[in-house]
Amino acid sequence: GPGGDRTFFGHPRALGGLFFTEAWERFSYYGMRALLLYYMYDQVANGGLGIPADTAKSLVAAYGSVTFMSAVLGGWLSDRFLGDRRATLYGGTLIMAGHVCLALPAGVTALFASMVLIAVGTGLLKPSVSSSVGDLYGRDDPRRDAGFSIYYMGISVGAVAAPLVVGTLGQSYDYHLGFGVAAVGMALGLVVYLRTGRHLSSASNGPKNPLVLREVPRRRLLIAAAAAAVVVVALGTAAGTGTLGVGGVVNLISVLAVALPVAYFTVMLRSPRTGPAERTRLRGYIPLFAAAVVFWVIQEQGATVIAQYAQQSTDLDAFGFAIPPTWFQSVGSFVLIVLTPLFAMLWLRLDRRPRPPSTAAKFSVALAVAGCSFLLLVFPGTAAGPSNPLWLVGSLALVTVGEMCLSPIGLAATTRLAPAAFATQTMGLWLTAGAAGQGIGAQLVKLYDPATTAVYFGAVGGAAVVLAAVLLAAAPLIRRRTDVPAAAPTPEG
Ligand code: GLN
Repeated sequence: GPGGDRTFFGHPRALGGLFFTEAWERFSYYGMRALLLYYMYDQVANGGLGIPADTAKSLVAAYGSVTFMSAVLGGWLSDRFLGDRRATLYGGTLIMAGHVCLALPAGVTALFASMVLIAVGTGLLKPSVSSSVGDLYGRDDPRRDAGFSIYYMGISVGAVAAPLVVGTLGQSYDYHLGFGVAAVGMALGLVVYLRTGRHLSSASNGPKNPLVLREVPRRRLLIAAAAAAVVVVALGTAAGTGTLGVGGVVNLISVLAVALPVAYFTVMLRSPRTGPAERTRLRGYIPLFAAAVVFWVIQEQGATVIAQYAQQSTDLDAFGFAIPPTWFQSVGSFVLIVLTPLFAMLWLRLDRRPRPPSTAAKFSVALAVAGCSFLLLVFPGTAAGPSNPLWLVGSLALVTVGEMCLSPIGLAATTRLAPAAFATQTMGLWLTAGAAGQGIGAQLVKLYDPATTAVYFGAVGGAAVVLAAVLLAAAPLIRRRTDVPAAAPTPEG
């Protein structure tokens, strides 16, 4: 064909396939997520499950947390056994099966089956697709960062369309029809992947760091098998006897979501494979990671507290037609797509200055803006009656500005600051920030009361703004650690 179709916007051709695979996968995920809370707490007579709103919100948050935590396991399986290509195909198939479960009118059983399938599937697919993007570029290819920005646009394209299509169909006609469309979206993603897969780098074909079971010390295998058996038996007993219950599972997920990154950092700090300069940089990275966790606590409430606020506290008829509440889930991605070129220019300009802003400063802005997105909702919350939808749109636009100061920058900072020996797992490490944010969110959302929205938004938003100020004050200290050169002596010696 003509030379023009050999590249994708000046990038390796395979980026196009990965862009659309991830766009469709995110379409299915965010479409399902836009409907999920409403489906769960809607009355049985309306086709919902009739789950109390607080339990439903906690479950949505905990479920989101697991889909990010599982990326650590999925990334490991891909690295050591499957390779990215097979992990993506298996993951996409499990995700599609998960949406099919919800498309069937089979109640709570189908809901839990679907959650397990989608959590495992996303854990396999998401880190594998992103690492296939990375494999398209040589170590020093200057297009690498831009490639990841284009890829993040694919995420947003899927996320902006999904609530409009899946959400509207699901809420106006039938929840199961909506979930069915999500399944079709994932199927299209798999078709795209299969049709474009031949352009992928050969690095995606097999495990990058294959694990040969015969070479693993026997003692380690026995310990791992025993630990797995204990977990399975404990969970099985708890589920079988009903001791844990839904609330218990949510609490367990919250604890695990916070414990996982703590364990990760402890292992990296203690590892003999982490050099002294790397250790210093890692110590500087920890407060940045903590700030990211707080940011995701707020941002991810878009599918829980904010979704409930959209349906119950917003004047949906303000513009002369009934706005479907799922549409608010598209606002963030829409703003992100529109502002991405602007922010690309802004970073180029700021980073070229003699003293470019530190990552901590950018994260501090992100946290402050996220806090303000909640504080903005205090105003309509103190007035009587439902609020004008523009308050919510403004709030969602603000938190998205914060996302642009944190999400792409955090990914880059993670790849730069994680010790070399842990390089392949960095994608998973960064995603655990989102997991911890949602794990904490699963507890926090229980405090939200539709009768006193201003109290909740004021307290959570105010806390985020205070933490942003603390982070800004600590920025010089953090920078001294993160900028320590590889060979130079470290402050701790
Ligand atoms: N919303 C983005 C995605 O789904 C990033 C989320 C995160 O890093 N926690 O890919």
